[in-house]
Amino acid sequence: DEHKHRETNSLEGEVTEKESPSRSGPYGVQIVNTGPDHTFVLDEDALADLLLRDDVKDRAVVVISVVGAFRKGKSFLLDFFLRYMQHKYGSGGGGDWLGSEDAPLRGFSWRGGSERDTTGILMWSEVFKTTLENGEKVAIVLLDTQGAFDSESTVRDNATVFALSTMLSSTQIYNLSQNIQEDDLQHLQLFTEYGRLALEASGTTPFQRLQFLVRDWSFPYEAPYGAEGGREILQRRLKTSDNKHPELQSLRQHITSCFSEIACFLMPHPGLRVATSPAFDGRLQDIEPEFKRSLQQLVPMLLSPQALVPKLINGQKVTCRDLLQYFKSYMNIYKG
Ligand code: GDP
Ligand code: MG
Repeated sequence: DEHKHRETNSLEGEVTEKESPSRSGPYGVQIVNTGPDHTFVLDEDALADLLLRDDVKDRAVVVISVVGAFRKGKSFLLDFFLRYMQHKYGSGGGGDWLGSEDAPLRGFSWRGGSERDTTGILMWSEVFKTTLENGEKVAIVLLDTQGAFDSESTVRDNATVFALSTMLSSTQIYNLSQNIQEDDLQHLQLFTEYGRLALEASGTTPFQRLQFLVRDWSFPYEAPYGAEGGREILQRRLKTSDNKHPELQSLRQHITSCFSEIACFLMPHPGLRVATSPAFDGRLQDIEPEFKRSLQQLVPMLLSPQALVPKLINGQKVTCRDLLQYFKSYMNIYKG
């Protein structure tokens, strides 16, 4: 636990990062681990190291989290988020944020190796800083979740990771493969209910922005790639007026009442190299142009200064320091 810190000057847009002796550069810090018997353990020290740095602890925090089934490209996508963040809010330099054609993609580990990922939550060690258009100085944290929806982990494990992410993020990205299916919505209901019960009734919409992200969308002639096609699909899926079962209607009402904003984005398939080549290291030249075009739309849509949403709990802004406390108290709820 001998982490060394390097506090850079708090120049606007600069990044502070944490270094551990065994690594060079920033990395995904495991802040929620799986303990024995399907319990979850918060690494309070690691989290405090990230959130209590002098230059960020009192800033309102923007929390962006990606959830969804295992091996569907969550971490891969987050690494493009990191490119944007480092370019826009870090010391990224000039050029296009997407980077050069031949640079391997680094960040949260995404390569489908043979070892099985554990369930839990990772926070990127760089806490980014920026100033919103209204002059508010904010900190931005990125969360990667590992909730395997397979036989080895219970529904409860998934629900816990998903609920924690829902409660603690201001933008929750629900990463789905190929389409929004009925059981994806059922999972969402279960998971948000789990989270909603944990919050005190405050009269405010419990959660903020929910972004469905459909990967490998293969019906562009039915609904086009991007936000517009996503809106069409979402409307169809969340429509309550037609002759659906009352059960399905209440599911949809539940979901729409939980979030103050719901959107959907349709991503094209990234190409066969990304999906199947063991030698693929994430370089842009191996990725389909259509996928890159979609990234150019999606990422600024979520992460540009105009798009950033500070985290609210019970209608109140949350600072990095507060976020640490909320992590602790929400983890206590799920301990038993
Ligand atoms: P995670 O478990 O959801 O975080 O998934 P990863 O980000 O680790 O990606 C798992 C595998 O999917 C990797 O081999 C990626 O190359 C591949 N991948 C990434 N994005 C996509 C995508 O949009 N579509 C497909 N089919 N594969 C992807
Ligand atoms: Mg992952």
